[in-house]
Amino acid sequence: MSAVPVDRPRARPPSVERILAIVRTEKPPASEPAALTDLVRSVIAEERKRLEAGAPATSDQSLADAVVERLRAFAAPPRLAAINATGVIVHTNLGRAPWPEEAIEAARAAAGSLLLEIDSTTGRRGARLRLGEEHLIALTGAEDALVTNNNAAALALAVGLAGRGRGVAVSRGELVEIGGGVRIPEVIRRAGARLVEVGTTNRTRAADFEAALVDGKARLVLRVHPSNFRQAGFTETPQPRAVAELAHRHGALVVDDLGSGALLPTERFGLAHEPTPGERLAAGADLVTFSGDKLVGGPQAGFIVGRSDLIARLRRDPLARAMRPDKVTLAAVAATLGLYRAGVAAVRVPVWRMIAADVVEIGRRTAIVAEAIGPGATVVAVRSTIGGGSLPGETLPSAAVAIRAAGTNGRSLDRLLATLRVGSPVVVGRIEEGRALFDLRTVDPAADQALARAIRAALDVERAARPRAPRSNGR
Ligand SMILES: *Cc1c(COP(=O)(O)O)cnc(C)c1O
Repeated sequence: MSAVPVDRPRARPPSVERILAIVRTEKPPASEPAALTDLVRSVIAEERKRLEAGAPATSDQSLADAVVERLRAFAAPPRLAAINATGVIVHTNLGRAPWPEEAIEAARAAAGSLLLEIDSTTGRRGARLRLGEEHLIALTGAEDALVTNNNAAALALAVGLAGRGRGVAVSRGELVEIGGGVRIPEVIRRAGARLVEVGTTNRTRAADFEAALVDGKARLVLRVHPSNFRQAGFTETPQPRAVAELAHRHGALVVDDLGSGALLPTERFGLAHEPTPGERLAAGADLVTFSGDKLVGGPQAGFIVGRSDLIARLRRDPLARAMRPDKVTLAAVAATLGLYRAGVAAVRVPVWRMIAADVVEIGRRTAIVAEAIGPGATVVAVRSTIGGGSLPGETLPSAAVAIRAAGTNGRSLDRLLATLRVGSPVVVGRIEEGRALFDLRTVDPAADQALARAIRAALDVERAARPRAPRSNGR
């Protein structure tokens, strides 16, 4: 809001009628009177709080402008898009995987009406959009597949197969916290099962599972991919195949929670090998669960692949309905997985495009962006990370635009990043060693110029806000 001269000093905000009268002269969008009055009331309530906190009064005209601005903003789709310049490819707090164009298009179409539960050949009621599940079956070699809201739901559903009060055996090295405070022992307890701990924190052998499996003590072995941390030193984890053989000999099921679950070979991109759902099924897992929005690179979803008799039981579970995704997600899942089946995932799925991006090309783009920003921006070599609980410790060489802090404390950088967080478009970078860094690996090349403009504008704001900078209208 611009600094309009204050009408008169006052301790109390203006009346609703007074602001309404000004708003009406501004020809606001045709809104219901009640909605308009509510907005005026909330703007006045905020002004009252500011006055109580000792702030100078805002002019009536500015309050009315704020009302009109909000009417227009609320009537338009919220502008939420952000440029991820953090260098974290799957950034959980930025919405994890950005969707492929094909997924966005499919979701947009599915937002209207579609044959969601109508069989196109018979015209009768049919299974809920199966295309994504058919792709999963083809991509993993599974007998059947089920799509849920997220992998946490998939995991909870699968663990429920153990049965109420029955044992679920987990290596002590895999009793992890997935994120957001969700811990494996609690997932098992909430599923109504009982945790049977196996082995030690650093070393668990296949033979350690024997004691947990004798006499049907544990009905299910759960393997959890340690996706967000890495163990080093004196460690040992059992071979999936050996555990599966032991479990099956004792009549127990094996559920393998892969977390991220890659559908392309990560080693092809210079990364450590990330287990694929197909290879874990081949190693004897009865069910494998993984996320749709980590390395798969699509919408938030959980995938369960494996034995058809078990998937059929999960489909019948009343909880499955509470965990089922909506039509938009199912459409976007089908579109994303279709790109893998077409063999074009590495070039069309943004997560893989970012992973595969050539560091020389990233450096070239970074130089152009730094040049466009002007003085104060330099190009530095950095390392990008995969993020999103995938491939912990693995990094990729990248390049970033660096902005040095003005002065000796880092406050100017905090202010710069804060300005960028409320800009349009929003830009998110990171601070490292006294510099603000904007890593181009995670930026869509089509957004390079917008990124440069946003940083340049934020630098102008930051320079103007510096205490020593003279301002004609400063107080
Ligand atoms: C991320 C993750 C989950 C949770 O998946 P969501 O799709 O976020 O619900 C579960 N297990 C592991 C091992 C994970 O890495």
